[in-house]
Amino acid sequence: MKKTTSFLLLLALVVAGRLSAIDPADVKPVKNLIVLIPDGTSIATVSTARWYQWYTHPDRPNLAIDPYLCGTVRTFSSNAPIGDSAPTTSCYMTGHPSRTGYIATYPPADPGNDIFPVDSTRAYQPMITLLEAMRLVQNKATGLVFTCEFPHATPADCSAHSYSRKRYDWIAPQMVHNNVDVVIGGGTSLLDADGEAYLKSHGYNVYRDDLAGMRADGGSKMWALFGKRDMAYDLDRDPAKQPALEEMARKAIEKLSKHENGFFLMIEGSKVDWAAHGNDPVGLLTDYVAFDKACAVALDFAKKDGQTLVVVVPDHGNSGFSLGRRDCKGYDKLTKDQLFSFVTKVKCTAQGFVDKLNAAPATEVQRIFRDNAGFELTDEEMQTLYNCKDYKNSPIPEDKRSEKESLAALYSNSLYGFVAKLLTSKTCFGFTTGGHTGEDVILAAYHPAGTIPTGVNTNIDLHRYMAAALGLSGKPDQLTQEYFVPHTEVLKGYKYTIVPPKTEKDNPTLVVKGRKQQLTISPFTNIIRLGKKAKDEAQLSTVIVYVDKNNTFYLPRSITKYLE
Ligand SMILES: [Zn+2]
Repeated sequence: MKKTTSFLLLLALVVAGRLSAIDPADVKPVKNLIVLIPDGTSIATVSTARWYQWYTHPDRPNLAIDPYLCGTVRTFSSNAPIGDSAPTTSCYMTGHPSRTGYIATYPPADPGNDIFPVDSTRAYQPMITLLEAMRLVQNKATGLVFTCEFPHATPADCSAHSYSRKRYDWIAPQMVHNNVDVVIGGGTSLLDADGEAYLKSHGYNVYRDDLAGMRADGGSKMWALFGKRDMAYDLDRDPAKQPALEEMARKAIEKLSKHENGFFLMIEGSKVDWAAHGNDPVGLLTDYVAFDKACAVALDFAKKDGQTLVVVVPDHGNSGFSLGRRDCKGYDKLTKDQLFSFVTKVKCTAQGFVDKLNAAPATEVQRIFRDNAGFELTDEEMQTLYNCKDYKNSPIPEDKRSEKESLAALYSNSLYGFVAKLLTSKTCFGFTTGGHTGEDVILAAYHPAGTIPTGVNTNIDLHRYMAAALGLSGKPDQLTQEYFVPHTEVLKGYKYTIVPPKTEKDNPTLVVKGRKQQLTISPFTNIIRLGKKAKDEAQLSTVIVYVDKNNTFYLPRSITKYLE
């Protein structure tokens, strides 16, 4: 594309991009913010989940969010119209779109492709999030509730900084050290001994797969993790072992609302996205319905409380899910029973079937499908299942399994893929992709004074709206320039060295020599060590981030006070 055209497109979004009917200046202030994010949710997912709920509970024909749907959001990455989880929720939290994989981190410029102006001098700078701003400026309590593992993109976007969403070793310690008051979600295997010790020594109660412990907990600071990594899909969940998202939301609100200064809470229906990626209609619809119940909890609280803003917004679409499919002849004349009877009877998700099939001998396959989905496999379907590469109990030796012996329409390398296709084949639902999609996402909002965003908003507009409601307009950017400053700038005039890591797994250390004091700074926590032997420690109010791409430590300006 010609450079001039690119520039005009960029300008068009900046100048005319705002179509929302509300000006941030008109937003009435609130005390609390609850943001609910159904990850990877396209509007067809919401519509079909509503039918699902109506069909199974005729007394509840609507979703909890229905009365509050108010507009749509264009959610994009800095240089791509189709968003990734990391930069999209980052943008809601910081006000800046970023690149695929970037967690609350400023993107490098991509001239000609950037959708919004990008300042190349700020590449890789961590950006203060709304969660961090509310804690730093207003001393509000903060909380995160989700069903994925805790360092996964969306919870990380609120409370950590990394140009790579995959680097859990950089992200997890930041989340532990970022003073988040209440964390409920997945990932027991990702909270290491150091992290747990830090939390416990700072007044947190920590629970691992301890539902009774979480329920009985009356403290104000808590981490409750369930499942080695992600939690189970709601439909597969053992209610004696793991809480529903609705209960997690209620517990978090109960704790956070006791805080006199108010609170920030992000609640994510994390695995709506995973089911969409996997093209599993059962996981998709049931996890969305479970998410909507958490929305009901938040909305009920907000209406009673009268000081709470609730925003419900997906981070991006996913899978091109459709109610109606090309190869399903006459689908637009099907009755409600023909469309929804099957899917609402299935008792576990595609992942649930995989777990059951891998845990039982092949002789149990028909019983598993009969008991949990009301049908048996045909001979061809059974052959296709046996040929899945990762089916543990297949009577066919692994090296003899092949696509040739399978039904082409249902064949998948993975057992999960096969089950998802099999379940979908019994419906008239469709999927166009196993990845994200770029259409606008729904926006629902409840504001006690009714000042809600309407019309078409960009992800940047939505950040500005939430910041305005909290009296924090422009504040995250100001705080970024105060708390995430390159070490070369903060330490001008001081002697310092970056000590390379001892092993590949470690991070470099920054050693700074002041006139009287020496600092040893390791990244990804809020702790710095003082003295020649680094024996004493001090705690900062934000985490320290190191970026290897530019060999830079990002530090608070005030760190120099420890050197005097
Ligand atoms: Zn996402």
